[in-house]
Amino acid sequence: MATLGALYAQTKRRLAGAGMPSPDLDAKLLISYALGCAPNDVHLKPDMTAVSNEALEEVIQRRIAHEPVSKITGSRGFYGLEFEVTPDVLDPRADTETLVDAARAACKPDARILDICTGTGCIPLALLSVLPSATALAVDVSEAALKVATRNAARLGLQNRITFIESDWLDGVEGLFDLITCNPPYIPTADIEMLDADVRLFDPHLALDGGADGLEPYRIICPQIRNFLRGGGKAFFEIGAAQARDVIKIVADCGLQVDAVIRDLGGNERVVCVSK
Ligand code: GLN
Repeated sequence: MATLGALYAQTKRRLAGAGMPSPDLDAKLLISYALGCAPNDVHLKPDMTAVSNEALEEVIQRRIAHEPVSKITGSRGFYGLEFEVTPDVLDPRADTETLVDAARAACKPDARILDICTGTGCIPLALLSVLPSATALAVDVSEAALKVATRNAARLGLQNRITFIESDWLDGVEGLFDLITCNPPYIPTADIEMLDADVRLFDPHLALDGGADGLEPYRIICPQIRNFLRGGGKAFFEIGAAQARDVIKIVADCGLQVDAVIRDLGGNERVVCVSK
């Protein structure tokens, strides 16, 4: 194996042969990680000399055992930024960029943002990166997740505009916010064992399990939203497949208004926008 191009081709073939859904991107990221080259070198410099090593072999085996590339490399791109990920946090999903886009379009540059179930911190940090005078409070019940989110804020140079607190839902939160965002756990408990192995084995179940019907978090959060939303403010909730109707009902039962249900790039109803 003498060139990067040959190593890339062989790695892609092995990942595809093992049934991995995105062998091209995975091969590129794993080779870059194991060999210490830039991700783009992998496809832009096929003639570069490259020799497979033990590190590459190990990460290929881990990927074939369904560990997501982000959990292997400890890093995941989201909204054009790089986030640290660990076993303690839900991997940021491209679907959640739909929520960030919708929330960004709805708020003023100096918005005060509250993010509930922050995980990596990807939602509020992505928003702060494009809203230069906004500030955020981000909460999570997991102390381990908050450590990751705090490191992400520092890594992105946004630590001066965000505060993290450990809170069971909204218990520790005070103040009024122009924007509330939340990607809660929303998978029905019994469905977790049917999820892809990548998710089931490597994302924390605390960040997936939304109770018997997946809707428990909305039942806890929605009745409290009114107390934290400034007049004219909006809340954006991520939802799971086919949950829009139920979440709209929960929101309406709390006397709140659903302004829009927004679809993700796959065409699924993914975000519910709420106001007082
Ligand atoms: N969207 C994630 C999935 O499908 C679940 C994330 C969540 O529960 N918020 O695996």
